[in-house]
Amino acid sequence: MPPRQRSSGATILAVANQKGGVAKTTSVASLGAAFAELGKRVLLVDLDAQACLTFSLGVDPDTVEESIHHVLLGQAELRDVLVACDDGVDLVPSSIDLAGTEAVLLGRPAREYVLQSALADVRKDYDVILLDCSPSLGVLTLNALTAAQGLIIPMPCEMLSHRGVGQLLDTVADVKKFLNKKLKVIGILPTLFDGRSTHAQEVLADVGERYGLPVLSPPIPRTVRFAEAPAVGRSILATSRSSKGAKAYRDVATSLVPTL
Ligand code: ADP
Ligand code: MG
Repeated sequence: MPPRQRSSGATILAVANQKGGVAKTTSVASLGAAFAELGKRVLLVDLDAQACLTFSLGVDPDTVEESIHHVLLGQAELRDVLVACDDGVDLVPSSIDLAGTEAVLLGRPAREYVLQSALADVRKDYDVILLDCSPSLGVLTLNALTAAQGLIIPMPCEMLSHRGVGQLLDTVADVKKFLNKKLKVIGILPTLFDGRSTHAQEVLADVGERYGLPVLSPPIPRTVRFAEAPAVGRSILATSRSSKGAKAYRDVATSLVPTL
């Protein structure tokens, strides 16, 4: 992606894959913390009713009074629901209310544009905005793809993880045609990578070519440290500063800086 002009504000990146458990949320929290370490002003948006991003950044979704749900339905301003987190990032939290948002939006005109419109108000205050999508290709994910300039697709390095990527790319093609001409797939982010497994290495080598997409580097290693981080409300960059996983996310974030 060519460098963008500063005056328009933050670069908005969606992190999406309709498969669950591929490290979307972990990648948003970790890349967000890494961008903050690099001095970027970072906003993270939790678009999943499971609210795992919200929880893993130390905010209890059950006590959140106004969340992204209220913003998307026009019941709150995005600026008013922001929470500053210990990782040096701001968060638009989710809550279980979000489970009902799609059903309400479905009956509204321009339903795919509500997130883009809500973010317009704060875009100049940030350098990068990361959107943590839910495991579906529903209206909330369409909102993320409509608001974003770039898409990152986390994908574990296992054979069956490929399934569904074609469908995601079909959706991206439709979004580009009908909703957001500027959307670019930045690349596949290989996650849960076991470097000792030749199978993982073969999948990694094959995946970019198969889909004609860039593969971000380095792959994120599978490490038990990631399971521990959300329990203390910080990303792995804070809980395990010098781990391989933290370093990999820092290196990926650094490689993305020229695209911001
Ligand atoms: P998604 O948002 O795509 O559903 P998550 O980020 O919630 O995926 O990750 C799913 C699970 O995998 C979580 O329990 C998370 O802690 C774990 N996980 C994510 N990345 C790694 C990794 N590199 N190594 C080990 N476990 C990981
Ligand atoms: Mg998630």
